[in-house]
Amino acid sequence: MSEKVNGGSPAWTPNSWRTKPRKQTPDYPNQDALAKSLKELNRLPPIVHPREIARLKEHLRDVARGEAFLLQGGDCAELFDYCEQGAIESKIKLLLQMSLVLIWGADKRIVRIGRMAGQYAKPRSSPMEVVDGKEVPSFKGDIINGFALDERDIDPQRLVKAYHHSAATLNYIRAAIASGIADLHRPLDWELGHVRDPALKAKYSETVKSLTDVIRFLHTVGADKTDKLDTVDLFTSHEGLLLEYEESLTRLLDNPNHVGKTFSKSAPQEPVKQYYDTSAHFLWIGDRTRQIDHAHVEFFRGIANPIGIKVGPSTPTEDLLQLLRTLNPDREEGKITLITRYGAGKVGELLPKHIRAVEDSEYKRCVVWQCDPMHGNTQSTTSGIKTRKFSDIFQELKETLRIHKEEGSYLGGVHLELTGDAVTECLGGSENLDEDDLSTNYTSFCDPRLNEKQALELAFLVADHYRC
Ligand code: PEP
Ligand code: MN
Repeated sequence: MSEKVNGGSPAWTPNSWRTKPRKQTPDYPNQDALAKSLKELNRLPPIVHPREIARLKEHLRDVARGEAFLLQGGDCAELFDYCEQGAIESKIKLLLQMSLVLIWGADKRIVRIGRMAGQYAKPRSSPMEVVDGKEVPSFKGDIINGFALDERDIDPQRLVKAYHHSAATLNYIRAAIASGIADLHRPLDWELGHVRDPALKAKYSETVKSLTDVIRFLHTVGADKTDKLDTVDLFTSHEGLLLEYEESLTRLLDNPNHVGKTFSKSAPQEPVKQYYDTSAHFLWIGDRTRQIDHAHVEFFRGIANPIGIKVGPSTPTEDLLQLLRTLNPDREEGKITLITRYGAGKVGELLPKHIRAVEDSEYKRCVVWQCDPMHGNTQSTTSGIKTRKFSDIFQELKETLRIHKEEGSYLGGVHLELTGDAVTECLGGSENLDEDDLSTNYTSFCDPRLNEKQALELAFLVADHYRC
């Protein structure tokens, strides 16, 4: 086995992050109970397989090269309760439907990653909050504590519960996809009755008509009988925040790109074994935990998975290159996805600087640029409800597309908080939701998500950008 693991320094181990300062540390009150849970996690089998991770890496390499587009979406905070058939199916269907629109618009293959099957840990701006005049620990995600006020104490048994809910969710995703949930010849519900603006409605109807015509044509000529059209890949992702959990599911496993292959002397030989974080295919470092010399970056530099880094107004340009050099010293194409989230008012000033820093360096064309138009656009209503305006979300995405075009870089994807349900959490969109509508069906336990109609509308808008 190669001494050098994943291109990192030899000193890396799955627990070397423990020697570093760390943000967002949950204060486990009972270390024995924590150790017991971690031991159990260590024993359990991987949730995802290195072969799947390697396949996603190949797809992301294509995205970095401008040959494919990445659609990533799901809940802000996934709850254990979302591990049920209806919620899982509606998210798969929405991601599929959005990707059909994007394929039609961008004329590129779409790579799909759900914020699903493990998005259970949430960073918080404050460890405590005031509810009904009483100070209580903040909800840090189902893997750490519960949302109900009598479940706010940190409970290490939740780590094992998270594993089982993640595995059950992914099991059903795999089963549903293998059984044809994504078959293109199934009729999809393109209902556009909610779109109030007649011009917009005509435009969307035209897109849907073109799409359904193509699908019907493929069906008529039998071209939809191939595996490629019958099924889609859906990979999983979450923020790699709770390092105790990620460490326990990190395993030294055979590198599928090495097994059974003969290498020419000139081609660099990949290591025989690599450390894979088997909790998900793709993991990202959040905006609050990307300090270069801290625990999260230390952990991430040793895993072979493709990884994301949230980049925002608080990211110094110099840090970007340092992060890339630390996390991807071998300059693997598509290994790193930079998930930019500045806010509609700031993207114009900040994104060009970040693009230039990366594209003028040795990492030119090496990263996937992805736009998260959600997290820089969160605001509170006068009555204190957390929301986002659809128009701000759309504006940031539109500006991001424009800036990449001007800079000669490629916007390779979008990262969205969405749900397949008819929630009322973000303002605006073609249904024109206003502040009074928010209380109708506000069910998020963390950030406000796009509902199915708003999410689909965003896909239409991106498709439109590419076709014009
Ligand atoms: C998130 O993606 O839910 C999140 C917390 O984002 P960020 O780290 O960008 O604030
Ligand atoms: Mn969020």
